[in-house]
Amino acid sequence: MITVKTIEEARNQMKSWKKEGYSIALVPTMGSLHEGHASLINRASKENEKVVVSIFVNPIQFGPNEDLSSYPRDLDKDSILCEKAGAHLIFAPETSEMYYTDMVTGVSVQGLTTGLCGAKRPGHFNGVCTVVSKLFNIIPADKAYFGEKDAQQLAIIKRMVRDLNFDIEIIGCPIVREDDGLAKSSRNAYLSSKERQAALVLNRSLTKGKELLSSGEKSTELLKKIIRNVLQNEVLAKIDYIEVVDAMSLNDVELVNKPILIAIAVFIGKTRLIDNFIWEA
Ligand code: AMP
Repeated sequence: MITVKTIEEARNQMKSWKKEGYSIALVPTMGSLHEGHASLINRASKENEKVVVSIFVNPIQFGPNEDLSSYPRDLDKDSILCEKAGAHLIFAPETSEMYYTDMVTGVSVQGLTTGLCGAKRPGHFNGVCTVVSKLFNIIPADKAYFGEKDAQQLAIIKRMVRDLNFDIEIIGCPIVREDDGLAKSSRNAYLSSKERQAALVLNRSLTKGKELLSSGEKSTELLKKIIRNVLQNEVLAKIDYIEVVDAMSLNDVELVNKPILIAIAVFIGKTRLIDNFIWEA
């Protein structure tokens, strides 16, 4: 496995792999890698001959009061995980390599970005779509792997790829959880042991929601209420949003009669965590 820091080095390697006829996968990440990321890399390495992992804490997807400066970074540790999981190349550029200081171009997706995390994190998805477009232009992969953990991001990227005719297939991969049900996240590292325990309420509330849906309930209002009740019972939890939307369009739904995305964002102390599940009606 090799690590490159410049676009030129990455492009040269891609040209040589393309010449050899290798199929190429891209797994975009912000580093601080865990088993969730490893599952994407693993799958990518089973389905492709060469796997590129990008590691870049993308400044333009962070809001002014978010955790850009404290976001955990550890390239040496990440390299070990990438190699074990089957990656062939890490692309780890500096911000100055990715962005011209006088850059005036970006990619924005309408509609799908207005609700859920988009409503709470203005500009976030413009930052995501711009960096992902740049990565697709730098790494001409056949397939790119994204986690269902960031369900809105996955839906937006799929739509962007369709709308802008990127020649790449987007593969969604299931959420990887800790044994106790907490969705793995680089941000879990911020949690104190008390908060770590409190964070279990996210998955617990979604499990309650699933039980309600299994019983045949069709009202999304009731579904949100049940989830809210569970979350409100945890004193360290502050609800950012609870949304039930069409899994494809991300529009609000009142009755469960098509695949829906049940998504929550919750502050545990200062740490904002997200979780979700898709219910195939
Ligand atoms: P991040 O480094 O947080 O930007 O995440 C990089 C990719 O890994 C995104 O496509 C995420 O959805 C995915 N990912 C993060 N956590 C998980 C998880 N627990 N299970 C599956 N995929 C994940």
